[in-house]
Amino acid sequence: MDGPDGASAGGEAGALHPVTQVQRYLEEVFTSMGFAVLSGPEVETEWHNFDALNIPPTHPARDMQDTFWLEQGNLLRTHTSPVQVRGMKRLGAPLRMIAPGRVFRNEEVDPSHEHTFYQLEGMMVDREVSIAHMLYFMQTLLREIFQREVTVRLRPGYFPFVEPGFELDIQCSLCGGAGCAVCKQTGWVELLPCGLVHPNVLRAGGIDPAEWNGFAFGLGLTRLAMMRYGIDDIRLLQSGDLRFLNQFR
Ligand SMILES: [Zn+2]
Repeated sequence: MDGPDGASAGGEAGALHPVTQVQRYLEEVFTSMGFAVLSGPEVETEWHNFDALNIPPTHPARDMQDTFWLEQGNLLRTHTSPVQVRGMKRLGAPLRMIAPGRVFRNEEVDPSHEHTFYQLEGMMVDREVSIAHMLYFMQTLLREIFQREVTVRLRPGYFPFVEPGFELDIQCSLCGGAGCAVCKQTGWVELLPCGLVHPNVLRAGGIDPAEWNGFAFGLGLTRLAMMRYGIDDIRLLQSGDLRFLNQFR
């Protein structure tokens, strides 16, 4: 590439960011299983980000996420889940989709929290989808990501858009379960909230829950890249520091 003054910057080709590398890889994994790759706007309506996902105005779940509000009631999306609703409305049932993308939270920044990070949303809607189907896809996914069997645990988790809902944790690959800064000394990393799609969410997407059901999950793409490449400070990812980025060429 030429620099701003027209001089050569040294003839070095650029390379993909580690999060982009993980995202592209997962897109391939899911496409091979028949999932469409969808995207949605980063500036969302309150309805798509909350209401359509079974999070009404009075619901305490709105406090679980620190939101960057914009003028006229719009917001920077706090998760990729609104793309579920957009996908259902656009494509109907049956549906297999993923939605990778950038999300925003008004967070205090530290080694494991950023105000801007990446998620990958997934959803499958069909007839008589069960938790067994969900687990099959989650296990396939994790095997592909880590190229080995990964130790996981499933805990009940509360998310308004699924019922029942689960937290899928994986054993921390940085410390092998001993405890470190990234896993907050617990040995486990929350990787994947998942569950069966709440009927209200299907309705919001224009799908009849009497006929269809499904599962959904949200993957922390940023956290996954950190685990895959052994990155122990989330702030490095958006630092723009070439000494960091050049390690992933
Ligand atoms: Zn750890």
